[in-house]
Amino acid sequence: MNKPTLFIDVDGVLLDWFNPFHAWMKRQGMRRVRTDSYDMRDSYPSLATAELRRLVLDFNQSPAFRDLQPDDDARKALWNIHHELPDWPIRYVSSCGSTAKIQEARSAQLTGIPSPMMLTCLRLGASKRPIFQQVARAIVVEDSPEQLRVAEELGHFTVCVRQPWNRIVDGTIRINHLRDLTPEALRKIEKGRE
Ligand SMILES: [Mg+2]
Repeated sequence: MNKPTLFIDVDGVLLDWFNPFHAWMKRQGMRRVRTDSYDMRDSYPSLATAELRRLVLDFNQSPAFRDLQPDDDARKALWNIHHELPDWPIRYVSSCGSTAKIQEARSAQLTGIPSPMMLTCLRLGASKRPIFQQVARAIVVEDSPEQLRVAEELGHFTVCVRQPWNRIVDGTIRINHLRDLTPEALRKIEKGRE
């Protein structure tokens, strides 16, 4: 049987987008009021949705975004998987915005990890359903409750990277960091599904 595709989310999974973003917002004079919701409107309730969206896109086109990098443990974990499970396709999917500038910056962030060309950037906040639907079997590694729900609905196996905004997500195994996604853990998941 074909090996499942490993879909790796970027922000909140492969690298820390949230802390640099909120630090950047603070420099713009914005005050964050909540830290436990994935919905930015809960963090900045005084901003209109369109304004918030513009700010996220501004950040994602700023030098601060371009500088984001996966930490060494995340890199190591992916190389381990790539070496020990070479026939498992790895794809990176991000709803970070799809302007040329954002795509180029996101690609630069993936330098030095396995399969860096296997990156899809969707428009900001877009559902990953059309991408998840492209394969019959996948293991989806995510921090967004909504994207996890979509993956579950499509019958994919899900792994949730624990964050303050995703305490309650059913039907998924939970890890603290990408370093916990070992080749052994993936083999075990695959064995359980056969
Ligand atoms: Mg994410």
